[in-house]
Amino acid sequence: MVLALVEHDGGDVDDVSLQALTLARDVAAQTGEPLEAVAFGAGAEGVAEQVGAYGAETVRVVEGDDLVDYAPEAYGRAVVQCAEETGTEAVVAPGTDRGAEVLAHAAAKLNETMAAEVTDVEVGDSYEITRQRWGGTLIEHARLTADTNLLTVAPNEISASEASGGSPRAERSDGVSAETGDGAADVSAFAPDVQDGDLRVRLTRVEESDVEGVPLGEARVVVGGGRGTDGDYSALEELAERIPNAAVGSSRAAVNEGWRPHDDQIGQTGAKISPEIYIAAGISGAVQHMVGCKGAENILAVNTDPEAAIIQKADWAVIGDLHEVIPAVSEKLDDRGHSE
Ligand SMILES: Cc1cc2nc3c(=O)[nH]c(=O)nc-3n(C[C@H](O)[C@H](O)[C@H](O)COP(=O)(O)OP(=O)(O)OC[C@H]3O[C@@H](n4cnc5c(N)ncnc54)[C@H](O)[C@@H]3O)c2cc1C
Repeated sequence: MVLALVEHDGGDVDDVSLQALTLARDVAAQTGEPLEAVAFGAGAEGVAEQVGAYGAETVRVVEGDDLVDYAPEAYGRAVVQCAEETGTEAVVAPGTDRGAEVLAHAAAKLNETMAAEVTDVEVGDSYEITRQRWGGTLIEHARLTADTNLLTVAPNEISASEASGGSPRAERSDGVSAETGDGAADVSAFAPDVQDGDLRVRLTRVEESDVEGVPLGEARVVVGGGRGTDGDYSALEELAERIPNAAVGSSRAAVNEGWRPHDDQIGQTGAKISPEIYIAAGISGAVQHMVGCKGAENILAVNTDPEAAIIQKADWAVIGDLHEVIPAVSEKLDDRGHSE
């Protein structure tokens, strides 16, 4: 069997999990194994219709009072037990923080290797995988040989497609179409045997972010500021306020300085953005920053240093002081009647 771990919000499956289901279905089709899903938390049974549309025959809904809220090691234990009980040969998880953490715990418990950030799998004698490393700046081809193959899917590198959308490898070896996808998956309760030690780390409370406005990941325009702002974001905020669906972001250096909250950080260890335009002001363009904005359609760099790495990567560049350039852009927008 191939088991896909799905994350959801009250039964609404998130996008990266749908991508994981799509890759898992492809693996299932290649191996001739059925596809099933496993889901934790409140409302997990509500995923049945969506995962069914993606080709899962059954969803294992994990039960247990201690497992309603996130507990990475306990979730890892549950995934292992579910995989063992169902004779799973591959577990595919979304490459989210939680997906990666749960699968890493599962790998440790199974004493198996886990392959992260996978974008493609060719199943032969072993699993030939393609995966991203260093935030997507290196593509690695590797061979995975394990009794239980553990994979996380690189976020937003695979298009999620429902089973009816077709797949080049749609036939299972037993002749049954792996492209079921018609109707909801069967719901099957699964009660793992979790030990106290598995609950050392668990979610005890949720704090709402105090960041207001458009989320970075959804913004049409992002105005990012780095160390070059010297901590003064007023000009960037004023520019963002003038543009519909715009948000202010930052580099990690600015977060480390305490100038911006971590929610604003763009990059490998921050938000991934995909705006129509990313205005990067006072940001040098370190690779760890650029992997967070590679989804941007256009990049405008504002930097005093013509040799800064970001100048080579930007579509346009203004060589100058951001404290002069950014207010001048706002002024131009006002002249053109774009102010609120
Ligand atoms: C494991 C790891 C993960 C990381 N993850 C991230 C991440 O997720 N996101 C991230 O951003 N970084 C990340 N980093 C840090 C990254 O390597 C860089 O250190 C960081 O991005 C630099 O931030 P910066 O560009 O703001 O600062 P700097 O590199 O100091 O660049 C400041 C820039 O501002 C320009 N400047 C100065 N004054 C002005 C002015 N008045 N007007 C215009 N330009 C001006 C300078 O010419 C310079 O180019 C990570 C590093 C590691 C090791």
